[in-house]
Amino acid sequence: SSNAISVAPILTGLKNDCATPLPVLRHVADEMTADMRAGLAIDGGSELKMILSYVDSLPSGNEKGLFYALDLGGTNFRVLRVQLGGKDERVIATEFEQVSIPQELMFGTSEELFDFIANGLAKFAEKEGGKFHIPQGRKREIGFTFSFPVKQISIDSGILIKWTKGFAVSGTAGKDVVACLNEAMERRGLDMRVSALVNDTVGTLAGARYWDDDVMVAVILGTGTNACYVERMDAIPKLQGHVSPSARTIINTEWGAFSKGLPLTKFDKDMDAASINPGEQIFEKTISGMYLGEIVRRVLYKMAEAGALFGDSNSDKLSKPFVLGTPDLCAMQQDNSENLEVVGSILSDVVGVKLYCHCMVKSDLTARKMVVDVCDTIVKRGGRLAGAGIVGILHKMEEDSRGLIFGKRTVVAMDGGLYEHYPQYRSYLCDAVTELLGVEKSKNLVIEHTKDGSGIGAALLAATNSKYG
Ligand code: ADP
Repeated sequence: SSNAISVAPILTGLKNDCATPLPVLRHVADEMTADMRAGLAIDGGSELKMILSYVDSLPSGNEKGLFYALDLGGTNFRVLRVQLGGKDERVIATEFEQVSIPQELMFGTSEELFDFIANGLAKFAEKEGGKFHIPQGRKREIGFTFSFPVKQISIDSGILIKWTKGFAVSGTAGKDVVACLNEAMERRGLDMRVSALVNDTVGTLAGARYWDDDVMVAVILGTGTNACYVERMDAIPKLQGHVSPSARTIINTEWGAFSKGLPLTKFDKDMDAASINPGEQIFEKTISGMYLGEIVRRVLYKMAEAGALFGDSNSDKLSKPFVLGTPDLCAMQQDNSENLEVVGSILSDVVGVKLYCHCMVKSDLTARKMVVDVCDTIVKRGGRLAGAGIVGILHKMEEDSRGLIFGKRTVVAMDGGLYEHYPQYRSYLCDAVTELLGVEKSKNLVIEHTKDGSGIGAALLAATNSKYG
């Protein structure tokens, strides 16, 4: 049809601009490796912050006792307790609760927010049942997962750089968030202590490592994205003096800020310009769940505007940022029906364009196929670039420890809703890793989904960093 003909060049152009052939992937992986080195050399040396986690010893499986975790990273906070039984018994019992944070507290004072959290924690602790035991005279210890940008000072303290994700709490920036929590617990009369302050990526690595000694990297692909890995102390020039008995530590890369060598389109640049943080988090904006749907929406809007893709259909709804979510792309890509009925209903429900399925005009089916093609193009690019990022990390590690990454089994622990729920994204990611590494090196590499390891990971890090030795 004539519609398909006038849209075709937009699709062809998009595919060209988003292409990720092996040389592009190689270049991205190399730039990631180089940026990691630059960030390890000096503070501010790279877009990648390469933050020291002060996690110098990882769970071994021998941890014993009762530990708590507190996870604050979005509109909910989660509390968890776990009774650890050492190598043989492992996790004897675990319980958790989730509490949603009232909207007004996200715009209130630091004291109000931390009082609310301490109160939730206290109520949870009061319900501790008979399966959990703490030796006499000991305080209950907490692993605190705090997924906002923090300048870590030690394993159990860190200064909040700024709130993100819609939080605008006054009086916390520039303060030690552990001290804020401790003060609130004191006001509540709650006698617990924070033994580890961790980023969610670091918690994921620790949680996965508890079950598998070969876990060396953790990657989160959800609303946003981040990665961390096990680094050699002597490969961190900016460290100057800090020593670890294990000679290893975890580095939180904050890789969402990476930007070099990415194949970007006008749609990406426009989305970035309209965002609350233009010029920042470019890798995140290309590969993570918050943005994939929005990039596709921008492409479809352009196609609709050209008057071509959806005929005379009203595209008012389609002009609204973020109406199309990444789960919608995922649902459309799972549509195996002959007439792409799911695609049709998502287009009419979410985007407000009607492609009349009952008359099965050929051009309507062609249009739906094109929509799926657009989704696939953006998701393929995202997954493959995420894969290239992982290979960049692995190469960095291998360069400093010949044979210790590719010469033996190595596990990359993956978590986050995007990786978990989007099969095409997952396989594009894995394909890219295999292409880049080649068959031989890929054999030893395991990319593994670890569901919700970060909560228990934080409790495990409280155990490994226990004040009671
Ligand atoms: P967060 O990253 O917000 O802490 P998650 O790890 O659960 O939480 O990730 C949620 C994100 O995962 C959503 O913002 C969405 O982008 C993505 N996601 C959730 N469900 C799906 C799905 N069915 N298909 C594709 N992406 C999904």
